[in-house]
Amino acid sequence: MTDTPTRHDQHGRYPRAETTDDFRHNLDVVHARIAAACRRAGRDPAGVRLLPVSKTIDEARIRHAYAAGCRFLGENKVQEAHHKWEAMQDLGDLRWSVIGHLQTNKAKLVARFASEFQALDSLRLAETLDRRLQLEGRTLDVFVQVNTSEEASKYGLAPDDVAAFIRELPGFPALRVRGLMTLALFSDDTERVRACFVRLRGLRDRLRQDAPDGIGLDELSMGMSGDFEIAIEEGATVVRVGQAIFGARAVPDSHYWPGGNS
Ligand SMILES: *Cc1c(COP(=O)(O)O)cnc(C)c1O
Repeated sequence: MTDTPTRHDQHGRYPRAETTDDFRHNLDVVHARIAAACRRAGRDPAGVRLLPVSKTIDEARIRHAYAAGCRFLGENKVQEAHHKWEAMQDLGDLRWSVIGHLQTNKAKLVARFASEFQALDSLRLAETLDRRLQLEGRTLDVFVQVNTSEEASKYGLAPDDVAAFIRELPGFPALRVRGLMTLALFSDDTERVRACFVRLRGLRDRLRQDAPDGIGLDELSMGMSGDFEIAIEEGATVVRVGQAIFGARAVPDSHYWPGGNS
């Protein structure tokens, strides 16, 4: 299993999905890749959730993705996500996961509409989200973002800081802690990418042993279009996949996180 390649080099080659049938096809391909990775790792594909990432995608194409079966979408930027949520209120069972870095002053937007937030990385943000959620009478599933690649991204907690951070989270009852999230090193060096995923799983396994009551650490959100098979081999329970479903993005990754491909 150590020879599974990254596919970052194919980012320019994912076909653009325009129709519901295109989305059905691309989703089938991704589900087949997930199933193959699960077979290699001796895992049940039911233990891996595919989160389609619809950032930069317009409403018309998102409606086709919905028609093809997508009911839970990931967005990196909260304002874009909130705008889409408002525009597609008629799709009552469409839910939104915010997966990108969040400034505290935008926490109230997330509290208003998101079902999940995957980039929790500060107590100040946890406190603001919790307060806003209580005002809205809502709860939010959250993932703690960990910086497993150190040099490639400034977002996320350093692995050594996660244990102390998790100990504080029971103080925020509107946050339902589900697990950890990471972005691997963005590289064609498979073993260095895999090392990021191994680090996140190892950290989760250690923390789970004495996690506070009510703090769930079952989930590992890791892997995207270029590296999700490797993430699955290393234990991912959520993969966040944009380009392999929607088509190659023109906006460079450096727009979303420091150190991304430009
Ligand atoms: C865009 C994004 C993804 C998906 O990346 P693709 O290359 O489109 O699969 C995953 N995670 C985060 C945090 C993202 O912003």
